[in-house]
Amino acid sequence: MTPYDPHNVFGKILRAEIPCTKLYENDVALAFSDIRPQAPVHALVIPKGAYVDATDFCAHASTAEVEGFWRAVGAVVQQLGLSGDGYRLIANTGADGGQEVPHFHIHILGGKNLGRMVG
Ligand code: 5GP
Repeated sequence: MTPYDPHNVFGKILRAEIPCTKLYENDVALAFSDIRPQAPVHALVIPKGAYVDATDFCAHASTAEVEGFWRAVGAVVQQLGLSGDGYRLIANTGADGGQEVPHFHIHILGGKNLGRMVG
């Protein structure tokens, strides 16, 4: 696996080197609006720890990090009012997954019927 690069854009957001529209934060996770929304509602949730992708996070994050991360996802879903009509969670991973930013993140998409899952 490619080593974690602290200069990735989400690392810069975590260090407040570049701004974001913050939606939610807890001890282990930060959520903010995607800069190029692909749906009426498009949020990103990232761990504060240095994890390249979903594989890295699942293998190496502590129990507290895993729990806190998913609690954050749930909190953002509630905060954005998505639980009633539904939403989609996406974790693009690696080259075939189309991951652009090499810091693990979950996309939360909603606000309309999102149609087919792929293509
Ligand atoms: P990926 O393809 O890695 O799953 O998605 C990365 C996401 O990060 C994209 O949806 C992109 O719009 C978003 N993104 C890239 N740079 C920035 C940024 O500087 N700020 C915010 N808020 N989102 C970004």
